[in-house]
Formats: sequence, C-alpha cells, structure tokens
Amino acid sequence: MVIGILGVQGAVREHEQILRTLGVETVVVKSVTDLDGIDGLVLPGGESTTMRRLIDRYGLLDVLRSKVTTLPMFGTCAGMILLASELNEGPAHLQAIPMKVRRNAFGRQVDSFETMLAVEGVGQDVEAVFIRAPYVEQVGEGVRVLAKAEDAIVTVETDLHLACSFHPELTTDSRLHHYFIQKINQSRSISV
Ligand code: GLN
Repeated sequence: MVIGILGVQGAVREHEQILRTLGVETVVVKSVTDLDGIDGLVLPGGESTTMRRLIDRYGLLDVLRSKVTTLPMFGTCAGMILLASELNEGPAHLQAIPMKVRRNAFGRQVDSFETMLAVEGVGQDVEAVFIRAPYVEQVGEGVRVLAKAEDAIVTVETDLHLACSFHPELTTDSRLHHYFIQKINQSRSISV
C-alpha cells in the first residue's frame, strides 16, 4: 500500500513517520504525477488558505477534486477544512465530504489545547492536540460523527474519507492512521 501526503505546506514529515511505523510506503505529493498509483491521500494540518494557494499554484485543484469519489482521503485540522463542502467563511476547497466546517472555531482563549477523546471505531483515550482548530457545524448525508469535544463535532467519516479537527500526527498515538489504513483496505475490497 502506498499513501500520499499532500506536501505543499504543514505537518508533512510527522504523517510520513507515523505511516512508516505502520509499515506503509509514503509519497510526498507536490505535483499531479505524484498522485499516480497511490491508494490513499493524507491532507495534513497547517494553514488552509496557504495550502489552497499552493494547490492552485501547483495545478493540483482539478485533479484532486476529480479524485474525491474514488481516492480515500484523511484530513487533519487544515486538511479537514480542505475536505469540507462548505465553510463558515470563504469558498470551499476539495468538497469531498458534505459538511459545514467553521475555521478557528474554539475561540481565542483556547487557541490550543490537548485532550483525550473517545473516537467511535478507533478507541478510548485517543490523544488529541488542537491548534487553532476547526470543528464541524453540520453534517450532510452519508457522514458519520465519530467524536465530539466540548459538544462540537471533531471527527467524521464517510465510506471513503476520514477527517479530524486535531493533529494525530503530533502524538505517538497512531490509531487514527491505522483506522485510515483499514478504511483504504475496505474501500478496495468493495470496489474490486
Ligand atoms: N487555523 C488553520 C486554518 O484555518 C488550521 C490550523 C491547523 O491546521 N493547525 O487553516
């Protein structure tokens, strides 16, 4: 299995390391040809507006949008914002998951915080680092809520995609990445 990591900006190396410890080959995606042959794509945390500018500059927007119905994607923090079909401000990006996402949603006083979360299907006490994090305000059809923090939706999935508001790549807890790998395997067996 080969998993691509969108490599335009953000926490790219950290995802690479976790995926490698799980025995997966990784490719840093910076151009359209880097997408060839990957089985899944991670969209890391960072700054979504900067990432979008670079996605446009590298000519990746149309090809990424065309892959949202077939290529499993896992967005963390800014990556979740990139996957949303609607944002509280500004135009949406890849529109892979029918959900409305609010950027920088937890407010100034709690810009960053860490907590332990129960994530359905993944486990109890999942380490979650939130940094100027978004949350999901509304979910559309086919979106399952896997975790909430302070009553806000912070992890969701569809049959194909996974997204969380926090940064699992900044912890030693690899269970969400493992869960994504399982989703890729499931989606392969369905499409074969
Ligand atoms: N606040 C950032 C944004 O709007 C996301 C923060 C993050 O990825 N840690 O894109």
